[in-house]
Amino acid sequence: MNSYLRRIITTGVISLTCTGLILPLMANAGNPEDYRFSREPGTTKDGYPLPLTGKPITKNPVIAKPGVDVKKYPEHYVPGKETLAENEMRITACGSWGPAPMRIGQGASCLLVELGNGDVHPAKLDKVFITHFHLDHVGGIFPLFDAMGWARNTPLHLWGSSGYTPELGITAFSQNITQAAEWHIQNKQAILPSGGMTIVPHEIDISKFSLEHPRELAYDENGVKIWAFPVIHALAGSMGYRLEWNGLTFVYTADSQPGTFEAEQGKGADVFIHEIFPSAEEFAFYNHMPIQAAEGVMEEHTTPAELGRVYSIAKPRLGVGSHFTLDENLIDPLFQRWGTTYTDPVLLLQDLTTINVTSDYIVVRQTKADPLAWPAPPPPMPEGVDLSIGEPSKAQRPDWLTETRLPQEP
Ligand SMILES: [Zn+2]
Ligand SMILES: [Zn+2]
Repeated sequence: MNSYLRRIITTGVISLTCTGLILPLMANAGNPEDYRFSREPGTTKDGYPLPLTGKPITKNPVIAKPGVDVKKYPEHYVPGKETLAENEMRITACGSWGPAPMRIGQGASCLLVELGNGDVHPAKLDKVFITHFHLDHVGGIFPLFDAMGWARNTPLHLWGSSGYTPELGITAFSQNITQAAEWHIQNKQAILPSGGMTIVPHEIDISKFSLEHPRELAYDENGVKIWAFPVIHALAGSMGYRLEWNGLTFVYTADSQPGTFEAEQGKGADVFIHEIFPSAEEFAFYNHMPIQAAEGVMEEHTTPAELGRVYSIAKPRLGVGSHFTLDENLIDPLFQRWGTTYTDPVLLLQDLTTINVTSDYIVVRQTKADPLAWPAPPPPMPEGVDLSIGEPSKAQRPDWLTETRLPQEP
């Protein structure tokens, strides 16, 4: 999977690192089996691996207003093979869970949001909105910081909390990331333009939040507004985001306990993505964790029935649960509990689930990404970008070591 997909994103002109009664249609949904994934190490008819649970992740792969024509999408979304329409938003889960390194089927939490302005390109993925600094939400920042240093050549922009104290905020985080990459930067600066190896932090002043001032406008460019609002999770500074563009609204709360405040901030969303967790007993059992520890974890999170209550207030066109430990034994109980408090369309996110959103319809598919993809050709470099090469670092390895190199082939 391309590393750039591993956080909340907006690209250049914009792309971001989610009401009413909707008639669910199966038109254009293809075979419902498309939404089932065998956990056995099998492959599709085209030879793609099928890593997940074999359980459906939604009963509503197509949500359309009555009487509208739903675009005929290919069965799977293949990155680079589909242009976005001008009125269309595309949300892709680059990662749907957490940091467990043994779970290759679920990367750390990250969403890629692309908006249909015709200007989306991986080299322009330079805008990242960070919900909070838990490592399952920011630990993948290095590949994004580096991987396109040669193509982006302009700074990476990070939005996030100003911090309860400065060391807990986005400016310190950005400086620390840059500092941790110092060895890498000193080496590469003499080989490649290093303008892309800088981070510009954008602080969202969390001290301004209150019941009277529930959200801050974090971003306002090219018709895109992104609002930040606080959520109930861990330390001060955990936030959700509300993106409004072209009549479409996407809300993402990442990790959060259920609350009326976030539900109000999510009102009117076309797509609302919120975390969802199994029960403390299930979490303890599968993670070999003492029940007391699992109960402590769950205090920071949201059960399916609780998420149903949040969505009953917010009333999104599509309510999405993410950050769930996928397992074939957990999915049926999850949907059953979710259904006790909410019966409108829902989706359980897994890695590389893609949601196409227009005012008329929402379509959910799985992405087929080439695991060995090459980068797309870079777009024209903007005017004024410094492509000069820097000075070599003084930290050169000793000559005696270099001199042991085998003679180069003629
Ligand atoms: Zn968290
Ligand atoms: Zn988390």
